[in-house]
Amino acid sequence: MSELNHPHDPDCIFCKIIARKIPAKIVYEDEEVFAFHDINPWAPVHFLLIPKMHISSMAHIGAEQAPLLGRMMALVPRLALEQGCNPYPEGGYRVVSNTGREGGQEVQHLHFHVMGGPRPWLRG
Ligand code: 5GP
Ligand code: ZN
Repeated sequence: MSELNHPHDPDCIFCKIIARKIPAKIVYEDEEVFAFHDINPWAPVHFLLIPKMHISSMAHIGAEQAPLLGRMMALVPRLALEQGCNPYPEGGYRVVSNTGREGGQEVQHLHFHVMGGPRPWLRG
């Protein structure tokens, strides 16, 4: 896949993870989407689902990205169960995208936290 189709930011930590310049425990990868374990998990299952394209946040999403986001969301149920979340409704998970400073976003590459597993959790 060309860099034209998937522009990256050389200073972005998640772009570096996608490029294998920073190691991570990979959960899933395809042409457009990447998922890996959060380094500082809040819950027994906690991974991050990201587009390979460097999109800074949910605030940068418009109709053009609807198919990409649709594909990402459609992956969540499968990946969550594969990673050890318990089935709905007794189990389940949270899908969270912190956006901007007041939204608590620390890494400026769009990501969805997927958190689940038996409670109690460390946070959330
Ligand atoms: P935010 O606060 O931006 O929503 O979440 C960023 C998340 O990225 C945090 O939960 C943090 O633990 C995770 N994170 C930050 N740096 C790294 C890293 O180098 N590797 C991994 N695997 N996760 C990271
Ligand atoms: Zn990035």
